[in-house]
Amino acid sequence: MWEQSRTLELARVDKFKNHSLRGRMDQSSLSGYREQMELRSLPKIELHLHLDCSLSFQAVSKLAPSVTREEYQRDYVAPSRCANLAEFLLHAPKGFRLMQTEDALRLVTEDVFQQLIEDGVIYAEIRFAPLLHTEQGLSPERVLAVVERSVDHLIRETGMQAGVILCTLRHFTEAQSMLTAELVKEFRGSRVVALDLAGDEAGFPLHVHVGAYRYAREHGLFRTAHAGEGLGPESVWETLRLLDPQRIGHGTRSIEDPKLVEHLRNWSEQDLMRTNLMGLDAAFLDDGVKQQLRKRFLEPHGGTLHSA
Ligand SMILES: [Zn+2]
Repeated sequence: MWEQSRTLELARVDKFKNHSLRGRMDQSSLSGYREQMELRSLPKIELHLHLDCSLSFQAVSKLAPSVTREEYQRDYVAPSRCANLAEFLLHAPKGFRLMQTEDALRLVTEDVFQQLIEDGVIYAEIRFAPLLHTEQGLSPERVLAVVERSVDHLIRETGMQAGVILCTLRHFTEAQSMLTAELVKEFRGSRVVALDLAGDEAGFPLHVHVGAYRYAREHGLFRTAHAGEGLGPESVWETLRLLDPQRIGHGTRSIEDPKLVEHLRNWSEQDLMRTNLMGLDAAFLDDGVKQQLRKRFLEPHGGTLHSA
């Protein structure tokens, strides 16, 4: 049986190994190492991370021991350049297909925590679609309960803060989308913080998801949505109009439309994020917790906090 504490212990051992290598490095690689370590030690906020797209090779090896490093690199990691969003998303299914049991879900959650802690992240919002993890009989509620409890346990054990965002997906039905929104409400008060819409925009109209976002808004739930990466600025406009999210994910193609950029700049009187670049102000956290994180991490670093 998989044990959570063992993986954390491995992280500590790996760090020790890296440390012992320093004596054998030449001067240029030593200065590169120092720069890397300095960057890693800066406190960071990670607001956009997909649980099922973040499996390390170590995690994949535990879940599928026959996968070689070459296969991992080819099948689980998207190339640095993709022709379009659909090509990028081809690399996601391998990950979530390995996450169909309670133990696998816990293992991947801890693996992601470990990676974030090594990168100096102090608060992360981790997103995933519970409905994608039911292939071996788990209910969506059970899937979410396992991940949420695992996140809660890891927060207490490591001190890193985190929230869980639930994704509905573009190709989901209206009922699946609504079920995802209902799960956000059902788990309100736990580590679950918001609803998201992810997946390929092309060929999957937005109106299917309008009801779920209306439900989330009416129940006072935080909402974010991916928009623009597949279909450009028009898709961002449409998402703002039909879903009324508080944040846009992957919205970088907004830059193609100056009017949209201006609109996003003036979008909200609240201090919420328009893209993925603004850090703690945009986090789906209550103001008291944000204040605590600022005091603990921002002030010792001269007022600068870094988005991961
Ligand atoms: Zn994303």
